[in-house]
Amino acid sequence: MSDPSFERIAIIGAGLIGSSIARAAKAYGAAGSISLYDVSDDVRARAAGLGLGEVAGTLADAVKDADCVILCVPVGALEAVSKAAVPHMKAGAVLTDVGSVKKQAADALASADDGRVHIIPGHPIAGTEQSGPEAGFPTLFRDAWYILTPQDGKGEDYAEAVQRLTEFWAALGSKVETMDPGRHDRVLAITSHLPHLIAFNIVATAFDMETVEQGEVVKFSAGGFRDFTRIAASDPVMWRDVFLNNKEAVLECLGRFSEDLAALQRAIRWGDGDYLMQEFTRARTIRKAVIDAGQDSGAVNFGRNQNGTKGAP
Ligand code: NAP
Repeated sequence: MSDPSFERIAIIGAGLIGSSIARAAKAYGAAGSISLYDVSDDVRARAAGLGLGEVAGTLADAVKDADCVILCVPVGALEAVSKAAVPHMKAGAVLTDVGSVKKQAADALASADDGRVHIIPGHPIAGTEQSGPEAGFPTLFRDAWYILTPQDGKGEDYAEAVQRLTEFWAALGSKVETMDPGRHDRVLAITSHLPHLIAFNIVATAFDMETVEQGEVVKFSAGGFRDFTRIAASDPVMWRDVFLNNKEAVLECLGRFSEDLAALQRAIRWGDGDYLMQEFTRARTIRKAVIDAGQDSGAVNFGRNQNGTKGAP
């Protein structure tokens, strides 16, 4: 095992992502030691019980000796947590986050900048629909993308800090790429944020129909709907903050989506099978491109067995 990228890291927010970073940093030797803090007494107690690291009683205690502070809290909490953490951080330490939206996150972290720390926002493109310290696991970031959105116009010390953070995520198994925060938000709006919005909406519609259809929607929920329910089970606080903080890009995607949906609606109404064939055939090629890029398994039914659970059929 090579030397750790940071002697000591502090993880703020010990949920799915924070606890996964703690487990992975320990498993792959990416940090010499780990301190953790969470606003919730209950989560702090559970994190201590799971042996995720040294659980501190205050945010100041958690960050004071850290070479890198990683904020794993909902996007809406980033500004307040950054402002509370930075005055207690060592000079030259790195302040980063894992927020799913990057323009707002970058502004939130920068609002706490006192010129002594290196602010380097980031986002691991890895997760599940679960929350809390028990939900994390050390291999979450393996072979997943991690997007860094460093600040422009900084000096050599900053470049060296970016390099160390890159090495840290590479040690957790991620493929690291650098991007402009605005571009990150536009790309994620279509690949992640809009699909979640559609899932929340279709499940809400089915929930209303469930009372009309008296239990038959859940009983016969096969492939399509079942997959939407998994996505829609994601943490409501996290997703509320994603939509409130990536408003522009999500609304732009939603506008285009609504136009395309209206075209399909019209084709169904007028019996335009050629249009439906053309659109469905085009969609199929995207699925193939996703599998070819190694972003999903090509196994039948996502590799599920007949009971719908993952694993060998
Ligand atoms: P999570 O499991 O709900 O964990 C978040 C934790 O942060 C909770 O324990 C929460 O405590 C705590 N917290 C909230 N406000 C805090 C504060 N002011 N100070 C300290 N702790 C605070 O959520 P998660 O899925 O790990 O998400 C965390 C971040 O990762 C979000 O910014 C999200 O956008 C990003 N992210 C998530 C995924 C995903 O798939 N889940 C993927 C990539 C990135 P309470 O529960 O008591 O509020």
